[in-house]
Amino acid sequence: MSINHLVRPNILKLVPYSSARSEFKGKAEVFLDANENPFETGLNRYPDPLQWKLKAAISNLKGVPVEQIFLGNGSDEAIDLVVRIFCEPRQDHILILPPTYGMYQVSADIADVGVRSVSLTPDFQPDVPAILAAADEHSKILFICSPNNPTGNSVDLEHIRSLCTQFKGVVVVDEAYIDFSKEASCTTLLAEFPNLIVLQTFSKAWGMAGIRLGMAFASPEIIQLFNKVKPPYNINQLTQQIALEALETSQDDYKKLLSILLTERERLEKALAGLKFVQQVYPTDANFILVKMDDPNGTYQYLVDAGIIVRNRNSVHLCAGSLRITVGRPEENDALLTALEQK
Ligand SMILES: *Cc1c(COP(=O)(O)O)cnc(C)c1O
Repeated sequence: MSINHLVRPNILKLVPYSSARSEFKGKAEVFLDANENPFETGLNRYPDPLQWKLKAAISNLKGVPVEQIFLGNGSDEAIDLVVRIFCEPRQDHILILPPTYGMYQVSADIADVGVRSVSLTPDFQPDVPAILAAADEHSKILFICSPNNPTGNSVDLEHIRSLCTQFKGVVVVDEAYIDFSKEASCTTLLAEFPNLIVLQTFSKAWGMAGIRLGMAFASPEIIQLFNKVKPPYNINQLTQQIALEALETSQDDYKKLLSILLTERERLEKALAGLKFVQQVYPTDANFILVKMDDPNGTYQYLVDAGIIVRNRNSVHLCAGSLRITVGRPEENDALLTALEQK
């Protein structure tokens, strides 16, 4: 099954920019093709436009073939590209499920693409019949965030399957927090659903928000569309090197720190639930906890005055009364709990 009918006609027709580095294939020692400075600085050459070495390492880790991987300048680049590949400005729209991550709406707004919102249910799951009822032939993309930001819960796999089957556009599952979750990644569904795109990132569990590296996993057909539209050298040399090095040498550190964060999350969940002004600690599969309480604005300001910044989600749809608290280092979580116990 092809997804070509969902792609903007100008993107289907597009002849992509062909860089010097992508045109030449084979062995050579003298490179006079890209107007680079020939003197070695370690960074004088353009980076690999398709990041093959890094993709091979990621393929190994994730069990997804290299031709089904796109790497972006953060997963935010993948979100932006997917909107520009599939949505005709002022004609098509995306579907989002609030409360959710803000970038889907921002990317659509920048591209002059419409946004239809279908609220999550009160237990923060997608309302499948309402989503299907809101969709028409101009609904090109459905964004699902799982585990969801800012609520922290995972979306039931059955809902995702059902939406991949019944929604007629592309389904993007944003798994920025999947490393913290006990649920399996939706990458296991890629073989079954040619309209599925799964996003992950090095910004959260991998501790590398500063290098800007996001991943999209999808059918080879969709990955080729990403490659056509992306800036030729979207992942710089330093990012490629540092990510590859982390995958080759830091996987044990990654696991150790992840396990500390999961232990800390559990400790915070219990301690927060014991505070007298806390009404509800929502279940979380992410590295943050949504907490509903009396006087959220007062508590937020009280914490700011104590030098502790959390995210106030009190005015967000379905999140009235809530603060979103990121799991920090043990001593940071101690500071938070001490402050809240003294409130
Ligand atoms: C943090 C976050 C991202 C991360 O984006 P990057 O551009 O990879 O840093 C993506 N999606 C969600 C839901 C997030 O919370």
